[in-house]
Amino acid sequence: MSVIAWIGLGNMGGPMSANMVAAGHEVRGFDVNPDAVATAVAAGVTAAAGIREAVAGADVVFTMLPKGEHARAVYFGDDGVLATADTGTLLVDSSTIDIETAQTLHDAAAAAGFRFVDAPVSGGMSGATAGTLTFMIGGDADAVSDATTFIEPMAANIIPTGGATTGQAAKICNNLMLFINLAATAEGAVLAERLGLDKQVFWDIASVSSGDSWALRTWYPIKDVVATAASNRDFAPTFTATLASKDIGLAIAAARATETPLEIGEHVAELFQRLIDEGEGGKDCSMIVKLVDGSLHA
Ligand code: NAD
Repeated sequence: MSVIAWIGLGNMGGPMSANMVAAGHEVRGFDVNPDAVATAVAAGVTAAAGIREAVAGADVVFTMLPKGEHARAVYFGDDGVLATADTGTLLVDSSTIDIETAQTLHDAAAAAGFRFVDAPVSGGMSGATAGTLTFMIGGDADAVSDATTFIEPMAANIIPTGGATTGQAAKICNNLMLFINLAATAEGAVLAERLGLDKQVFWDIASVSSGDSWALRTWYPIKDVVATAASNRDFAPTFTATLASKDIGLAIAAARATETPLEIGEHVAELFQRLIDEGEGGKDCSMIVKLVDGSLHA
């Protein structure tokens, strides 16, 4: 049994930390949102009063936070991870963040004597709950190897990506493809209904045909077709439009830095921005289907 500190107990960190409890570890969790803490405690996580209490004596610290700014706050704050953890503690950031912040975390952790890896995940809330996430891990080989041992209860796939920040690079490119696939799925799904196809019949065809994608199989934006889809629950978030906008923005920033044209990605980014402008940023990103069927605020 190991002692795990977990910072960020939201849609992903909640079920991920629960799987660490189920694997027999002692998990000490902290989140600024008391509701997230209460849900984690119900799954067996021990609530910590702050980062200092969570990381004391921990073998490993996992962070699962929304954006780079939150990761900086948690790592660099006066009572943050680098100021309060023991340097023997392995640091694993599984948030999806910009490459510049990830590099800054690597550099600061190394300068303070810590081992640190960037280890973002793919698989959504359903994968987090089932313990079948894909982890992509960047950093020094020894630290990546140690992190792999801890990560196993949460993952179906653990893939070393190379040196510092390469995990984030892989994640950013993956999510660019995911959100383009989601937009394509929303358009195909609405058009199929308008052409008179039964929604289940069309899904049965597309899911075994060339229109298939993870978005289609997990986040189908039409109600009552796929059990894991937010469309069944009035778009209560599994992955918010705000986070989707953040992720596709990370891809666009990386593309501009490398002079890579992302004509489709830039367009899909506008769809998420429209949801945010309409006050729906906290809803699930698959709600972009409402921009196709015209039902947003209808
Ligand atoms: P979320 O907003 O549900 O959870 C993030 C949690 O971090 C919140 O509970 C928030 O209160 C907490 N937090 C923020 N600042 C904090 C601080 N200073 N100290 C402690 N806690 C703090 O987000 P999520 O959906 O769990 O996503 C987390 C990360 O994982 C994001 O980077 C996201 O892009 C990525 N991700 C999400 C999914 C998904 O399907 N939801 C899938 C893969 C990756």
